[in-house]
Amino acid sequence: MPNSLDNQVLVLNRLWQPVNICSARRALGLLCLDHAHVVGTFEDNLFSTHDLQSWMRLEDGPEGWPVVRTVSSKFWLPSIIVLTAFDRLPRKEVKFSRENVLHRDGHVCQYCGERFESRDLNLDHVVPKDKGGMTTWENIVCSCIRCNSKKGNKLPSEAKMALLRKPVAPRWRPLVDFNGEVCKEHHESWRLFLEPNSASVTLSG
Ligand SMILES: [Zn+2]
Repeated sequence: MPNSLDNQVLVLNRLWQPVNICSARRALGLLCLDHAHVVGTFEDNLFSTHDLQSWMRLEDGPEGWPVVRTVSSKFWLPSIIVLTAFDRLPRKEVKFSRENVLHRDGHVCQYCGERFESRDLNLDHVVPKDKGGMTTWENIVCSCIRCNSKKGNKLPSEAKMALLRKPVAPRWRPLVDFNGEVCKEHHESWRLFLEPNSASVTLSG
């Protein structure tokens, strides 16, 4: 049986931006030191913040939510915590890789807007390399093979091909990097923070 202290907890910084994932064990350590507060994720306490004492007084939680039991009480495992001071956990940069570019762009060719399998996508330098284009988050998009060869060595304007959106470095660590035990209820509550502008995000897989 998996230990619920190994459950993953989403860590927000003081601006409520996701900065990391840690274990419930580590989250409890931060709570005990008052370096973090729990973000309420139950229906009746959504987005309220709790220090350790107020969180421990909480009696009602959803059916099936993971708990830690002590002799006299039970403690709902937090799903999201928010840091109270400066960031204790350093922000990790999203690694620049082919896989993460495809993930950022949702496997959608940034020129024609169609979705493709990984094997049918290329990485395209928006400003071609020989025109000084760099291999960075801001200059690389995923592109289908057809659009890629149509664009060739031209600027998008020269090729009369517009980008769907301006490429930027992701602000969060893509969940594809994570492994380990994450319960379904937790993922639901994380959605709001991980992709606040997208209603169609899927966090599984
Ligand atoms: Zn295309």
